[in-house]
Amino acid sequence: MKFKPKWSPPIIRIGAFAAVTAVVLLFGLSVHPIAGNNDIATASISTPKKLISLTFDTALGEDYTGSILDILDEEGVKATFFILGAWADEHPAEVSEIARRGHELANHGYTHKNMASMKMEDARIEMKDCSEAIKRLSGQEAKLFRAPYGYYTGELAAAAREMGLLPVAWSIDALDWKEKGENFVLDNVISQAGSGDIILFQTCTEDGARALQGIIKRLKANGYILVKLSALIEAQYAR
Ligand SMILES: [Zn+2]
Repeated sequence: MKFKPKWSPPIIRIGAFAAVTAVVLLFGLSVHPIAGNNDIATASISTPKKLISLTFDTALGEDYTGSILDILDEEGVKATFFILGAWADEHPAEVSEIARRGHELANHGYTHKNMASMKMEDARIEMKDCSEAIKRLSGQEAKLFRAPYGYYTGELAAAAREMGLLPVAWSIDALDWKEKGENFVLDNVISQAGSGDIILFQTCTEDGARALQGIIKRLKANGYILVKLSALIEAQYAR
């Protein structure tokens, strides 16, 4: 009589996950970060404290940065903005304003092309030009890097580290870009949020901007403290 297990024991599933990760690392394929995969880029933090970080990728097109900044001020929350160099060219005043209001500015490359498939020398130029734009417009020294689309190779992550930029991803995508409405965004984030999560929003979506205040209020009501991403990452080491 044959016994067919309906599910794989956890140890086998972990083994399979490790094997896939090893293949990805060996062959340097682009990998879209997923929750809990911190091998290449920091996607979440392990902390017993109820800390969460809200992060915003600046994106070309419609722009809701002004209302996002007002909501963050109203709620007394500091966040991290990943600045795209091409966006900074179009929105120099906003780059300065994000810094003036006490938020953290981080590197998101320059053109928003897939940097994992670029020549590394071109990827380095993207990172360098972006950091220079941030410095020029805000006075801040970028310490964190998030690759466009979260597409990383080990090589790209290493190049970022060599330039003094910690490669990061996210653990919860707000999915504000799906155009499914602000309530969808709110439910999506609140149903998943937990200690150490890095939440990803885009600055170009109305749904994200409209859902933001409700998300912040719910997270606060659930006992979470919202901090800049660098502060969240530091919390991992402060025991
Ligand atoms: Zn982006």
